[in-house]
Amino acid sequence: MRAVTVQPKVKGSVRCEEVPEPDPSTGSVLVEAVAVGVCGTDVEIAQGRYGWAPEGHDRLVLGHESLGRVVDPGSSNLSKGDLVVGIVRRPDPVPCPSCAVGEWDMCRNGRYTERGIKSIDGFMSQQWRIEPDYVTVLDPSLGLLGVLLEPTTVVTKAWEQVGAVGSRAFWEPRTCLVTGAGPIGLLAAMVGVQRGLEVHVLDQVDSGPKPELVKALGATYHHGSALDVGFDPDVVIECTGVAQVIADVMRAVGSGGVVALTGVGSGGRTTGLKLADVATEMVLQNNVIVGSVNANRRHFYKAAHELTRADRDWLARLVTRRVPPERIAEALVKQPDDIKVVVDFTAG
Ligand code: BGC
Repeated sequence: MRAVTVQPKVKGSVRCEEVPEPDPSTGSVLVEAVAVGVCGTDVEIAQGRYGWAPEGHDRLVLGHESLGRVVDPGSSNLSKGDLVVGIVRRPDPVPCPSCAVGEWDMCRNGRYTERGIKSIDGFMSQQWRIEPDYVTVLDPSLGLLGVLLEPTTVVTKAWEQVGAVGSRAFWEPRTCLVTGAGPIGLLAAMVGVQRGLEVHVLDQVDSGPKPELVKALGATYHHGSALDVGFDPDVVIECTGVAQVIADVMRAVGSGGVVALTGVGSGGRTTGLKLADVATEMVLQNNVIVGSVNANRRHFYKAAHELTRADRDWLARLVTRRVPPERIAEALVKQPDDIKVVVDFTAG
C-alpha cells in the first residue's frame, strides 16, 4: 500500500512509497484512509526539526490528523463503514499518574508516544490499524470535514483548561481574544462562539479568506497588535507561538483573565519586553498563563460534538486544498490563502 513516510531529523526525507500492509498487532480495527490533515508539526518533522521513528526503524509514517472508514471492526463494537478518527497519543509505559488515569495529554515523564510524531507510525497510509479504545466515531454527515476533528480536540482541551483555571474564583467570562487565524485559531473561535462568548480574532493579514471566515462566525476580526484591540479580554487563546504576540497578550489580558498558549515552534524575538514588569502586572491582576497540548479521549468525544454542531458550509471553507499522497511535497509548502491542507486518499 502507499504511505507517506519520513526519516525523522533528516530534512527533505519525506516521500510517498510502498510499505507493507499494517501489522495486525497494531490494533484489531482496520481502517481505510479517507484523508489526513497537514499541520505545522508535520512541516516541522519534514524539515528535520522534530519527530521520532518507531524503535528499530529509520522511517516513520507521517500524519496525526486522521479520518477513515472502518473496513474490519475487529474486536470493537464499531460497524463496517463507520467514519472514524484515531486518537494521537498513547500513555507512557510506566505509567505516570496522569497516563494511569487516561490523561495521557498531561503525561508527566515525557515517555508518551504519538502516532505520526513520536515513535509510532501515523495515519498517512492507505490503510491503518488501531486499538478499539483509541477510535472516535463521527456523525457520518460530517464526511470529509471529520478531518478537522483532531485540531478541534486541541482547542477543546485548551478551552477546558481555561474553564478549570477560571473556576478558581467567581468566573463569568464575556470576551475572548484568539490570536492567529489559522485552523487552530479559527476552530478556537468557533468553540468560543458556541460557548456564548464575544469572540475577537487577531491575525497579521487583512485580506484573503480569514477576515470573512471570522465574520461568518459572528466574531470580530482585527489585524495588528493585541494591544490595540480596544478591550481587555477575559480569555486569550494564543495560537501563533510567536514571541511578540505572546508578549502582547500577556499585557492585553484583562484583570482575572486567563491566557491559554497552544502554539509551538515559531520562536522569534520580542521587542522591549520587561519580564519583571509584565509579571508584576500579572500578579496585580491575578492572571494565569496556561500551556495546553494534545488531547485525551474526553476531548475527542467533546470535540466530535462541537464539530457536529458547527455550520458545515463554514467548516468546508477551512479545507482550502486537497492533495493526493503522491504530491505530499506540495501539501507541505504553505500557499498564501491556505487554511487547512489535507492529503486526500480517495482520489486514484
Ligand atoms: C498535535 C498534538 C501533539 C503535539 C506535540 C500537535 O500538532 O496535534 O497531538 O501532542 O503536536 O507533538
